[in-house]
Amino acid sequence: MKLFSDYHSHPQGHRVQPYTQALLQPWVDSARERGLRDIAFTDHDRFHAGIEFAEIERLRQTNADLNIRAGIELDNDPQTSAVGRKWIESNWDQLDFVLGSVHYLDHPTQMFDSVPAGAAQVVGQDIDRLYADYFRRLREIAASGLVDCLAHLDLIKIHGHRANSEIRQLIDETLELIQARNLAIELSTAGWRKQVNELYPSD
Ligand SMILES: [Zn+2]
Ligand SMILES: [Zn+2]
Repeated sequence: MKLFSDYHSHPQGHRVQPYTQALLQPWVDSARERGLRDIAFTDHDRFHAGIEFAEIERLRQTNADLNIRAGIELDNDPQTSAVGRKWIESNWDQLDFVLGSVHYLDHPTQMFDSVPAGAAQVVGQDIDRLYADYFRRLREIAASGLVDCLAHLDLIKIHGHRANSEIRQLIDETLELIQARNLAIELSTAGWRKQVNELYPSD
């Protein structure tokens, strides 16, 4: 099957850059070139100030051949995600799609998946405990009632660290919750560009 959609993109490039036609149109052009028919913009919730729904609407008018969705990626940033959740609630009617993700473990200001700095959060740790902690946080996001889809489901492996013990029960528990909530999971190729060199999630 040919890939026809991409629901994970960061047009603002990890900083606040207000949505304009000049910022967004290249993403549409690039999607069209690749044969995508259905796309979502999902900047991180901490950059919600840049999201302009009116600009997305204008983009839809001039690119009627594509389905363009207004989205966001809500994560568990201890500093910003409470505000992010509120923003999602107050803009719920205009949002088509919300990704949920876990980027933070115990470090209050650094995403564990930052490369290479985040690896320091994993080195020397009890990997099994980290996996359990990561999936617990993921279940919290899944149960928030605010997300449609879980992003990069097994991101905890990003720096190449594998759980030592059997994690099937941990995964099953998480997938059962996702299924019970009727949520989707992302199939992400981003791991191919990382040291782990594997899709999120692996089989
Ligand atoms: Zn993302
Ligand atoms: Zn992410």
